[in-house]
Amino acid sequence: MEAVVNDCRVTCPYAESGCKIIMTGGNVKLHATECEFGPQIKWIACHNGDYPPNAVEGGKQSGVRLLVMRGKYRGSLTPGKLYEYAPPAGQGAEMNECRASLAWGGGQRFTHSFEVLVAPPNRVKWVPSANGDTTVQNAIPGGTSEDGERLFIGRFRCDNGDIVNGKIHPSHGCAYIGINGIEKASRQYEILVSIDRPTPTEDSSEAGNSSMFS
Ligand SMILES: [Zn+2]
Repeated sequence: MEAVVNDCRVTCPYAESGCKIIMTGGNVKLHATECEFGPQIKWIACHNGDYPPNAVEGGKQSGVRLLVMRGKYRGSLTPGKLYEYAPPAGQGAEMNECRASLAWGGGQRFTHSFEVLVAPPNRVKWVPSANGDTTVQNAIPGGTSEDGERLFIGRFRCDNGDIVNGKIHPSHGCAYIGINGIEKASRQYEILVSIDRPTPTEDSSEAGNSSMFS
């Protein structure tokens, strides 16, 4: 007589994202926390010119896509923007060989060494926020100020229609972006948040009102 073995085989919860691993039911929870197709949101060290797949898009400036990055500056770890490629000259773009920059102390600061935020598609979204609100659910931590305050990732629309991403400084009650050499602030902005589990119905109903790009 054979013993009855609980050998129920199940697919990974992220099979739709591409995971092909099949396991016994009891292992699902552990695997899901480390699955490479799961909702990991993380910072990847980069140098000028390179960025990883699944880099999170922050906005668009002078027709060039901006990605979410963060860099060290004067004791802070500050979220900023990375041009996907060098912007064309003479279109309001910053003239600098460096594609990554952040806003700090009233100015736009350039850096060659930074981290880029990556997330599987549909695991992050931008939602409207204002005045440094720190109660936004699932807001993704972006770094820390030189005083140890937690910073978040924000973006807002500029006068010319460009949407530029930067940092949210809660105690200042605003988001800052570095642009054309200076730091610009706005009390109205969007904040980057994570989505725990993509549910198709929720995604389709929120897509229209959560993004400035729609
Ligand atoms: Zn998996």
